[in-house]
Amino acid sequence: MTKFIVVAGGVMSGVGKGVTTASIAKILVEYGYKVTTVKIDPYINYDAGTLRPTEHGEVWVTDDGGEIDQDLGNYERFLNMEISKRNNITTGQIYKTIIDKERKGKFLGKTVQFIPHVPEEIKNRLKESGNGYDIVVVEIGGTIGDYENIPFLFAMKSLERELGKDDVSYVLVTYLPVPSHIEEMKTKPTQQAIRLLSETGIVPDFIVCRAKKPLDKERKQKIEVYANIPSEYVISEPDIDTIYSIPLDLEKEQLGIKILKELKLKPKRTPNWNEWEKLVSKIKNPKKKIKVAIVGKYVDIGDYNLVDSYVSINESLKHAAAVLDVGVEIVWIDSKKFEKNESNINALKDCSGIIIPGGFGSSGVEGKVKAINYARTNNIPFLGLCYGLQLAVVEFARNVCNLENANTTENDEKTKFPVIGILPTQKKLMEKGDYGGTMRLGAYAAVLKEKSKVLHLYKETGRLKEDNERLQKLEKDKSQAFRLGILNGHKNIVLERHRHRYEVNPKFIKELENKGLVFSGYHLRKDGTKLMEFIELPSHPFMISTQSHPEFKSRLGNPSPLFYGFVKACAKQ
Ligand code: GLN
Repeated sequence: MTKFIVVAGGVMSGVGKGVTTASIAKILVEYGYKVTTVKIDPYINYDAGTLRPTEHGEVWVTDDGGEIDQDLGNYERFLNMEISKRNNITTGQIYKTIIDKERKGKFLGKTVQFIPHVPEEIKNRLKESGNGYDIVVVEIGGTIGDYENIPFLFAMKSLERELGKDDVSYVLVTYLPVPSHIEEMKTKPTQQAIRLLSETGIVPDFIVCRAKKPLDKERKQKIEVYANIPSEYVISEPDIDTIYSIPLDLEKEQLGIKILKELKLKPKRTPNWNEWEKLVSKIKNPKKKIKVAIVGKYVDIGDYNLVDSYVSINESLKHAAAVLDVGVEIVWIDSKKFEKNESNINALKDCSGIIIPGGFGSSGVEGKVKAINYARTNNIPFLGLCYGLQLAVVEFARNVCNLENANTTENDEKTKFPVIGILPTQKKLMEKGDYGGTMRLGAYAAVLKEKSKVLHLYKETGRLKEDNERLQKLEKDKSQAFRLGILNGHKNIVLERHRHRYEVNPKFIKELENKGLVFSGYHLRKDGTKLMEFIELPSHPFMISTQSHPEFKSRLGNPSPLFYGFVKACAKQ
């Protein structure tokens, strides 16, 4: 029987509920359980696909093509596993399913109502996610007291009634402010959150207290009295240097054993945190430091949101750096700066490496091309991600192949040399107005070129072997056959995630190759179309780009091969 842990947040948003959820799941895995996680987003959007990165942070892409809230990213990064898009539940999805069923007459003439139909559907989805797992950790988005998460809390209570209290446990994550004028930690907002939660019939079993500093005994006791739970179940989670130390910190308070006890479970094994501890200590105290420039577009909105828009790249650099015992300082640069004034490019001079992340539209494109040119001609390690690959091809076409004003048609529809464009099959779909169908989303298999640097990196990190095991699972699922394409018995196959519409134009490949650009991996579609997935410049210390988003498959202890190679090359500089 699957058991559920429900994580809800009180006081305010952005206190680290997602990371706490991921940490709890990680701890339970260490105790030998099969654990998965679910994120509930109470908004009405069906998924995060249409959300602006500046509004909601980065859009996370799953293997099965979901465009999801970034919390799913934290789960995968902590648990080192693939999580399906079905593990993200939004209000929009719940209502859409119910309305679709109603239109098909599935309710047999009954009145379809908020209760029982909405909580029923939510419970169905949760149970589906729990198939094959011992424990599901469910994070409820938003803050207790929001109107929109009431249906989900109601569903949880109903699940508890159905399964019994031993199978459902509640964790409330709150925040304890320390107002600067009194320098005293305040428990009142937490008390209010407990009271608000109790209005839904839920009494938390655990209260995880986020704060600037650790909680003292007095505060714990205050909360104990107010919430009517033993003070050992009031867990302190103060601010830390790195999110990856949170599972270790929570374990110092023996949260794992306490949760297992609540769920009437016993540890299946003794946790072994050695590897994790080593990596965390390397993140905290690296031997060497490098400076990496991320030249992007979503930069004119203040530093805070910026990091949020590229959170997976940020984390991928950390994962690679932890393995290599290097510290990474990131400088965020608005590519438009290079367009305004040529000399601004000198900002890249003291950087050990340059990354061009994914992006859409034409804003800042020329500045990015300038940065790529700077990296190529000055032998600075360069990693291009998705749009980064497309613009690296544009730069090479213009400056090495002398294809004047070569471009992606996304930036210049009328360019004489459309080295990046929309494929004819996609154009047909677009004419029909089916823009959704033109996006390549989720994992796709790529065949890697023998002796390429890219292949070498996938071998060195053990990822080639891992992806081949995953491939075998995927091969059994006929509905996903399009993700594999034609493999022709090739062995060097990797799986990376995608989220894009434009492709390298097959018409120009020969010309680019003749001038020294190596296409080190491709996806061969069932209709015979070859899609370029990786490029590299053998003569450069590290000039590698990919059409995919490898940042969605980087985990602590299992870094993305391309980030690993990039950080290694930067450290060598
Ligand atoms: N805008 C480009 C495309 O749609 C790249 C997208 C991306 O970087 N994710 O193909």
